[in-house]
Amino acid sequence: MASLPATQVSAYRGRLAPSPTGYLHVGHARTFWTAWQRARDAGGALILRMEDLDPDRSRADYADAAIEDLRWMGIRWQEGPDNGGPCAPYEQSRRKPVYLAAWRTLLRGGHLYPCSCSRKDLESALAAPHESVSAGTHANPVQDSLDDEPIYPGTCRTQQDNIPQLVGLNVPEPEAPVGINWRFRVPDGELVWFKDANLGIQRFIAGRDFGDFVVWRRDGVPSYQLACVADDAAMGITEVVRGADLLKSTARQILLNRALGFENPRWFHCRLVVDHNGRRLAKRHDALNLRALRERGLTPMNILSAELPAEA
Ligand code: GLU
Repeated sequence: MASLPATQVSAYRGRLAPSPTGYLHVGHARTFWTAWQRARDAGGALILRMEDLDPDRSRADYADAAIEDLRWMGIRWQEGPDNGGPCAPYEQSRRKPVYLAAWRTLLRGGHLYPCSCSRKDLESALAAPHESVSAGTHANPVQDSLDDEPIYPGTCRTQQDNIPQLVGLNVPEPEAPVGINWRFRVPDGELVWFKDANLGIQRFIAGRDFGDFVVWRRDGVPSYQLACVADDAAMGITEVVRGADLLKSTARQILLNRALGFENPRWFHCRLVVDHNGRRLAKRHDALNLRALRERGLTPMNILSAELPAEA
């Protein structure tokens, strides 16, 4: 992996954070390319972090494929699972202690409550809650996007009254499968806003645009939101570049950062790549994954600049 010449080193630290639950597609390629360009333009470092938290959906062969596809695109990074670095390990499945420390801080700060609601809520907690878009019906797919995660109705919220006692009484560590989820209580009605370096001012209302979200699942696995902020802080990330389908997650993460005493990085959200029906690219678009396109003879430059080929 090429390292930066000493004269170019700056404080900028960006990251690529693929989830190895499928092959990378055109949307990933364009976002990761932007992340790489911004790190290079700033003379900074780029970190590859493998977001393999979900033991049921993550696969080692997808992680290997992601590294191979990124390299094929010409993207380079200075730290990662393949080449190590000062913040190792770079696989989330190996970073539980970092997430536990963050969980404890949130618990002590009175931000969490135990929740015994359904398995369905659980399933949505691990994956980043990508928002869906329909470019065909909305003038602005970024502003009008919908969040896939339902707003939690607050059924177990009253249980937060027990937290002071629980803290005093040695709450079981969340990694033990104790059968409860831990939720972050959002400040209802608070405006959470930020200036996105690409899309401008973004505004969300806590409790209306998103509700209390899970930070630790009942089966002992931390959520995407918690792991993401804990890692971005621990890895010294100064700018997060990712898809616009995670704008609302950024609002959640700003609340988590405040509760944890972490500084916010800068945010740069890339416009989404949509298919011919105006839907966000996802795992269902097998024919638009980078491997398939490479086999059809496309080059990285075609992928970055060209119209998407039809799927069939
Ligand atoms: N691992 C997440 C995903 O692939 C990306 C999250 C992020 O960039 O914060 O959806």
